[in-house]
Amino acid sequence: MKKILVCGAGGFIGGHLVNRLKSDGFWVRGVDLKENEYGNNNSDEFILGDLRDPEIAKEVVKGIDEVYQLAADMGGAGYIFTGEHDADVMNNSALCNLNVLGASQKEGVKKIFYSSSACMYPEYNQMDPNNPKCSEDSAYPAAPDSEYGWEKLFSERLYLSYQRNYGIEVRIARFHNIFGPQGTWNGGKEKAPAAMCRKAAEAKEGSQIEVWGDGKQTRSFLYIDECVEAVMRLMNSDFSGPVNIGSEEMISINDFAKMAIEISGKNLSIKNIEGPTGVRGRNSDNKLLLEKLSWQPSQSLKEGMKTTYKWIENQI
Ligand code: NAD
Repeated sequence: MKKILVCGAGGFIGGHLVNRLKSDGFWVRGVDLKENEYGNNNSDEFILGDLRDPEIAKEVVKGIDEVYQLAADMGGAGYIFTGEHDADVMNNSALCNLNVLGASQKEGVKKIFYSSSACMYPEYNQMDPNNPKCSEDSAYPAAPDSEYGWEKLFSERLYLSYQRNYGIEVRIARFHNIFGPQGTWNGGKEKAPAAMCRKAAEAKEGSQIEVWGDGKQTRSFLYIDECVEAVMRLMNSDFSGPVNIGSEEMISINDFAKMAIEISGKNLSIKNIEGPTGVRGRNSDNKLLLEKLSWQPSQSLKEGMKTTYKWIENQI
């Protein structure tokens, strides 16, 4: 039986990935700084550990065939675009990647998956909210709009260098806004889908919900189950990437807030306020994904939001 390590198993995507790997019949070890907040942890073995420590990285890769590296210091716009956490974000995530990849190569791990982000795409291609460009080949000249994006770009190159020089097989995905149940929904690290659901669910009938920026900025959002499916397909393919894993259903943030309001069934209005927003427009480009994996996500945004709203309403 293949032995798998999921780094960041206490987190949102990591928790769901562990479930999928378990249901596919693998033996799974998880590692994270923290237990999964929502109890979404079915790993055979779970190690509480800090991957910034090279000794921990060495310990967790022992006897492992394949690694999924999702551990990162990250959050939504309120965390990564204010500038307040830049040093921690760069230092912590880079150390996790350096240690896990270095230890994996030394231990003889055969294959490693790395979760990069659409935040590595250059800002200059994402100024027009209606026409953003995020094809994989548009990454350079590099100009991400956050240090979080720069760290992802550095780490993509780190993984590719290890593959080139040491022969360890790597698979790299650029995730575009993954959402769904068991994701962070409060506390400052939540991302737009969870924040919209929480605001609508908490709002009193007839009141306003606050939306950062003018609301004309655009994004796309991918439901967690489809993200995990894409990761498994990429890992089982012979394509290293980087490849986008996202949805092409682009929506303005105000329309997205309206969607959450409609799902809540309440009569609410939107108040646009100053806040960190990131680039003006971003959408996944799935041409390469479709070409390499003969697959792309198909679930509508609204369907995923209904499930997520119900889950967040229950948390409240
Ligand atoms: P998450 O914050 O829920 O999970 C990341 C986990 O990494 C957390 O549980 C955290 O405790 C853990 N971690 C951080 N530092 C660690 C350390 N030093 N040692 C051990 N564990 C540590 O985030 P997520 O949404 O599940 O994201 C998973 C990965 O996907 C991250 O690399 C993230 O950058 C990437 N990503 C996510 C999205 C998204 O929309 N969720 C988009 C793009 C990229």
